Parts: sequence; structure tokens; C-alpha cells
Amino acid sequence: MKKINFYSTNLKAPNVNVKDAILKGLAADKGLYMPDHIPTLSEAEFDRLKNADYPEIAFTILKKFLDGFVSDDELKQICDEAYNFPVPIEKIDSNIFIMRLDRGPTAAFKDFAARAMARLMELFLERENRRLLILTATSGDTGSAVANAFHGCDSIKLIVLFPEKEVTDRQRKLMTTLGDNITVVSIDGKFDDCQALVKDAFVDSDLSGLNLSSANSINFARLMPQIVYYVYAYLKCGEEINVCIPSGNFGNLMGGLIAKKMGTPIKKFIVAVNENDEVARFFKTQIYEKIEPSLNCISNAMNVGHPSNLSRLIALYGGIMDEKGNINKLPDMGKIHEDMAAYSITDEETKQEIKSVYEKYGVIVEPHGAVGLKAMENYRLETSDSTPVVCIETADPAKFPEVIREVINIDPPLPESMKEAMEKEEHYEKLACDYSEFKKYLITLDAGR
Ligand SMILES: *Cc1c(COP(=O)(O)O)cnc(C)c1O
Repeated sequence: MKKINFYSTNLKAPNVNVKDAILKGLAADKGLYMPDHIPTLSEAEFDRLKNADYPEIAFTILKKFLDGFVSDDELKQICDEAYNFPVPIEKIDSNIFIMRLDRGPTAAFKDFAARAMARLMELFLERENRRLLILTATSGDTGSAVANAFHGCDSIKLIVLFPEKEVTDRQRKLMTTLGDNITVVSIDGKFDDCQALVKDAFVDSDLSGLNLSSANSINFARLMPQIVYYVYAYLKCGEEINVCIPSGNFGNLMGGLIAKKMGTPIKKFIVAVNENDEVARFFKTQIYEKIEPSLNCISNAMNVGHPSNLSRLIALYGGIMDEKGNINKLPDMGKIHEDMAAYSITDEETKQEIKSVYEKYGVIVEPHGAVGLKAMENYRLETSDSTPVVCIETADPAKFPEVIREVINIDPPLPESMKEAMEKEEHYEKLACDYSEFKKYLITLDAGR
């Protein structure tokens, strides 16, 4: 197998191997790491995986990227431990499936990525006797998944930044009740502000002594595990599929696109966004304009006005986009349209969809999943493409009880995994949206370690 090198999407930083791409998170030129080629799965491998369970599929795929850096035994243990919960695929109509990625400990699909990433990072760090301070910005679900995944890791201290007014009580409690190596900070601003503070800290040479790293979807370790469930969906549904992905930072979609490049027969990606429609408009017009500030929609984990993974998507299609969102080389738009169709869904449509899915199928979906299902319906009406479609449900409805109650008058039951956190005491700091204040905070916190 040819060795995979990782280049920066800004093309101004040296290539690195997979271990360094994971431990660094962001490249020195603020670009994102991308593999210089994508390994493939052979016919025989797909055949063999037909009867495999989720951890085994994960092992086969992750090994393609990690071979030589993690032993088979180590990787097998990581996959077995990280994926110890079910991944149900429900058929709701003749050609429509819902894949529920919400059965992990924090009841959102980000558990899939966070749990593998935390274990990989801990393994690499312990081996080298190193420690890291990880910064991550969250619009709701990343923080809880990442905090839960890193909680108790000896080599890692985690700081989570979240926008004070944009996360639900339940999302917040899942991160603020952990303590130990997990510090949580609320910022008086938006998700994009949190993300900007994190990005500024990474490139601030005054902070180089802190050993900063990232756990946002900018880290390739977050992306890699998100390839697996697309392969799994194909294997379970058994023929060519379309997939429908509720998207915000586009890490989830990137995982799918890489799965397709690896050989998984996925015909079309239905890309579903809320009213933050900058990418849907870019596909249509070839003009990219960020939305600043991002709009506050009820699918709050997708309130992203400038998705960090977009530069990766553009790189995958031969273009170049810098970290500010300037496109220096247009990607192959024809190929993008061949592979993807994007739809923006309003909050009103989202609520209507929650209601109609419940009435039609007796299934409760939450706002992110509903954005996806509505986009899928739009796509089918527009194209009459009836290829079996797997719609991703990215969170448990119990994470968004307010909306569900309002629309269908049902209180979605709290999953076991979340009950405990709801009872515990919360601890978090509050900071203004100001880089110099944040920097001072980091330095003080580090001195206290
Ligand atoms: C993060 C998240 C999304 C968006 O995923 P991206 O990879 O950022 O596109 C969608 N739904 C939920 C519930 C999420 O937590």
C-alpha cells in the first residue's frame, strides 16, 4: 500500500504523516490536512465486510489510513471500545431509510468521531510521553461529544468554548457536569466567534509553549471515523444508495465523499442545510459568500456561516480555498453537481417536516434530521430519482425537547446515557468575545496546571 501523506489545503506548510496530522490538528499555514491520495476498498473487501459488525468495518477502514502507526491489536481495541453501541437503520418507506447515529453516550453523531479520535490521540501521546491542551469550539453537540470522549484521558486537558445563547440546556449540561480534565467556557458571541478564538490561539506564537491542539472537525481524526458509517449503510442496504446529510461544518459530508472515493457505491449526496445556505448558494452560483453573523436556526448544530471543512471539499474537487473563504482556484463544479445536490430548508419547513414525518410514519425526528428529510423530499420531487436513500439522523430528539413539544406535543424520552448528566452540578466560566481576554485566560489556566 502506498504511504499516505497529508498536505495542507493552503499548500504552504510541509506535508506530514497521519500521526502528526492528528496531533497538530491544523497546519501551520492555517490550512486543513488532506490525504494526498485516498485508499480504496476492493470488491473482495466489500464482500468480506457484508457480514461484519460495526467495529470490524471501522477497523478495516481506519487501518487503511493508520497502517504502520497503530498496531492491529491497538486498532482493534480502539474500534471495539469506541463503537460499543448500536447503529440502527430503520426503513420508514419503500426506498427510504433513516440511519440513527444518535445512540452513543451524548446522543449525537459526533460521538462516532470523538470516541475514535480521543483514543487515537491518547495512544500517540502516551507512547511519546507527551501532553496536549486541546481547544475546541462547539455549536452544541461537538463539545459534549468531545468532552465525553476525552474525559479521564491522562495526557490531555480539554477546553470547550460554546456560544452562551446558542446551545440548549441539555447540550450544555452534557459538557459542564464532567469536571476533571474538562474545562468549559461560555463566550458571549456566536459559534463562528468561538471558532475564530480557537483558530487565533493556534497561530499565536506566544502560546506555542501550551502544546495546543484541536478537536474540531478540522482535525483529520474527526473526519476519518465518519467514513465508516457510509460504508456500513451501503453494506446493510445492499445496493447503490443515495445519502442525505444534514450539514453545518461539512465534516459529515466529507466523510461520505471520502467513502465514495474509496469505492463505496453512493450515487448522490443530498446536502441539507438550514437557512445558513452559503454552500448551497455557492454550488448554484459559483460565488462563495460567508454568512456573518450566522443565522440562529432551530437546527443549532448547523448554524455555521463559514464551514471549516469547505476548503477540504474544494480541495477534493481540485480547487483551492484559503482559511478566510477566498477561492483561489475554482473546483470542478461539473463534478460537484454530479455528486451532490444541496438544499436549504427554513425553520418553518423544518417544524412542518417534524410534524409530517410523525404523522406519516409515526417516527420522531429532531430538527437536524428533519432538515435532511425535507431536503430528501425536495430532491426526489425535483429529480424523480428513486434510488434507495439513507437519511442520517444526527441527534436524539430528546436533545431538542422544546421544538418537539411545540410541534407534536410529545416529550421525547431521555436516553439512559443522558439521564445522569442532567442531575449533576454544572461548572463553567464565562468570557467576553475578545481574543486578548481569552489569551490571558489560557495562560493563567496553563500556569495552574
Ligand atoms: C454537528 C452536527 C451536524 C452537522 O455536522 P457537520 O459535520 O458539522 O456538517 C448536524 N447535526 C447535529 C446534531 C450535529 O451535532
